[in-house]
Amino acid sequence: MNNLNDSYKAKGLRRQLVKEIKRKGIRSEAVLSAIKKMPRHAFFDPIFLEHAYEDKAFPIGEKQTISQPYTVAFQTELLDVSKGDKILEIGTGSGYQAAILLELGAEVFTIEYNHKLFLKTTDFLPKIGYYPHFFHGDGSLGLAKHAPYDSIVVTAGAPNIPNKLIKQLKIGGILVIPVGDQKQQKMIAIKKLSKNKASKKEFTHFSFVPLLGKDGW
Ligand code: SAM
Repeated sequence: MNNLNDSYKAKGLRRQLVKEIKRKGIRSEAVLSAIKKMPRHAFFDPIFLEHAYEDKAFPIGEKQTISQPYTVAFQTELLDVSKGDKILEIGTGSGYQAAILLELGAEVFTIEYNHKLFLKTTDFLPKIGYYPHFFHGDGSLGLAKHAPYDSIVVTAGAPNIPNKLIKQLKIGGILVIPVGDQKQQKMIAIKKLSKNKASKKEFTHFSFVPLLGKDGW
């Protein structure tokens, strides 16, 4: 697969992308260096090389998108990842976010609702050297079988905060989830303080595809 070639051109475009998301406010050196290292063009058809390094979401088929790099960086920064963290990602999509989390040293559990995308990404990601634990199913319910997690990141827009997800966090764990309507959502970070207590921080608006399933749309 020639789109795995990491050319000087791709590296140069990636350096520009990192500058751009830094300018937009991403501060974590670990996150910036993971974005700098990740060959985002490998997640695209080779003819879309230039698009791969624009700070934009892009269609990946099945009416779904690979998230905008700034959005991935923003959510990842909120997760405050430490090496060895056990993280659940809801919405595998292209696998880009999962690969960034793996690059930061996390153990990643990722669940995708769309069967075709699940098959495609399960086949693709190991080919470029990234090995999360892949699951097919309704992530709006979390993934109780492997809980508890140090953090959970939802990469689709939810109508509200599913309680089950907070239950599946460790004490001290963080849930990052975009919540709103089907067009626009506010990024929310929940920190589980004890079995029954959590704190909540709200951030700016983003625009995700809808979270489907039982506790989604
Ligand atoms: N994280 C992805 C990436 O890095 O490419 C981007 C994800 S895309 C914006 C949202 C994904 O969430 C889509 O692939 C969609 O099929 C998936 N999705 C929607 N509802 C879901 C659910 N209930 N459980 C799991 N995945 C879901």
